[in-house]
Amino acid sequence: MTNKLVLFLIALLFVACSAESPEEPAPVVDEPEAEAIHEETDTPVVPLTGLKAEAAEKVDGMQKLTQEIIDSLFSFSELGFQEFETQRYLTQILEENGFTVELGVSGIPSAWWATWGSGKPVIALGSDVDGIPKSSQMPGVAYRQPMIEGAPGHGEGHNSGQALNITAAIAVKEIMEREGLAGTIVLWPGIAEELVATKAWFARDGRYDDVDAVLFTHVSNNLRVGWGRPRGTGLISVEYSFDGVAAHGASDPWRGRSALDAVELMNVAWNFRREHLHPLQRSHYVIVDGGDQPNVVPSKATVWYFIREITAEKIRENFATLQRIAEGAAMMTDTSVSRRIVGAAYPRHFNKPVALAMDENIKAVGLPEWTEDDQTFARALQELMGAEEIKGLATELEGIEEAEEDPVSGGSDDIGDVSWNTPTVTLRFPANVDDLQFHHWSSAMAMATPIAHKGTTAGAKVIAATMLDLIQDPALVEDAWRYFREEQTADVQYESFVGADDEPAIEKNAAIMAQFKDQLATFYYDPTKYDTYLEQLGIDYPQLERPGSEEEAAETP
Ligand SMILES: [Zn+2]
Repeated sequence: MTNKLVLFLIALLFVACSAESPEEPAPVVDEPEAEAIHEETDTPVVPLTGLKAEAAEKVDGMQKLTQEIIDSLFSFSELGFQEFETQRYLTQILEENGFTVELGVSGIPSAWWATWGSGKPVIALGSDVDGIPKSSQMPGVAYRQPMIEGAPGHGEGHNSGQALNITAAIAVKEIMEREGLAGTIVLWPGIAEELVATKAWFARDGRYDDVDAVLFTHVSNNLRVGWGRPRGTGLISVEYSFDGVAAHGASDPWRGRSALDAVELMNVAWNFRREHLHPLQRSHYVIVDGGDQPNVVPSKATVWYFIREITAEKIRENFATLQRIAEGAAMMTDTSVSRRIVGAAYPRHFNKPVALAMDENIKAVGLPEWTEDDQTFARALQELMGAEEIKGLATELEGIEEAEEDPVSGGSDDIGDVSWNTPTVTLRFPANVDDLQFHHWSSAMAMATPIAHKGTTAGAKVIAATMLDLIQDPALVEDAWRYFREEQTADVQYESFVGADDEPAIEKNAAIMAQFKDQLATFYYDPTKYDTYLEQLGIDYPQLERPGSEEEAAETP
């Protein structure tokens, strides 16, 4: 090699490298190869093959069912513990498809457990079904319009996950039947997840004891799975009820002992104590009963707390502090206090081998193809909600979520309790728009539109493919259990926050649903008459402006 040629090659290498980020020199390749590398990051690396490809095709063939389930649950708009229309509708579909359905498990009337098949592995698919108070919102429109003022709605998107699980299960069941594959499919609902109030009870009652893997699904804005400890907290949800003595508030108030005073003193004490708690804690309360009227000294009052922290130990520690504060408040007011566990969520830990297998399927399935209408709608919602970046819907996968090295605080999910009983992962699927507000009407806006339908179908393909991994590869099931026993639970012992005598809070939300049920019924989706719910509601998706708003604007002097 001549010196000139060496210099030329060095110069070429320098030019090629300097175009990329300094810490990660790009491989020196010619043009077509470079293009191939770029394409690989955007599109499926290895498409699904064999039975997995067939399952994905079957899921695609069930897009109408997916849409009907999502739109129906959206229209039922039921709150936690009151998901009875949802239960009736979904269990009928499950029974029609050969599943055996058990109603009202763990003393929770709106719950169910559906099973099909026999033998190992036992794969349990779960997803939440409950809505959010006061989040009633017309879907497919980019402005605030409640369907019913003050009514509940799907302001998180829990109307989508069951469609995902059911279509995935049906696709895999058909293949298992034809191929004579052994295995049991279980379909179960996250009842009252917004109250984090049932999965710990299911776990306590042994519902996951013979389950080999739980594939849980939750609405999100990308297609993603993770392993280890995710960001977020666990929690204890607890009500403190004080008992005092009623009296005339003006004629002889000295004879009264105010339960409301106790609640207020308890809250004041907790708010002072907050300063000395670790910043990763989250805690909040509402006064669910503060008395009846001002001239009657309240003999009864109840305050409801969520105590959140990163570790079970810290949750217990803060809960013990709260308990002492409650007792102190009772002492100060000469009232008595009792407590009731309303909900519980263990800090989550997800299974690594199952997550890695699922991630391969995520890469193969990829994100849905969004239309310009979908993107326009998503951007309009982000604009409306003042999102930091108006980026529309995701077009690139975010990749697997690694275990959090440093704990990050945030929300909780009672899937945590399930994850300490059997190998568990949560698939996040792109049925909603990024950067809206959760637990808010804005998160309902896309949840009965093509965005929700397509994002759910993509998720169903991933779940179906991962079910087939578990069914066809006993080594994966073994590996999942090895991780669960030798890594996840080697040094950590799960001890539920829920005791044997704690009853589920099944009366919650009954009064709200009784108030709105008849009005909501007038909005139930009728798939026999309308192709989609948007059609039934007369919405021209994406409806960006309020009808008539332009004319009104023109008339305004
Ligand atoms: Zn949720």
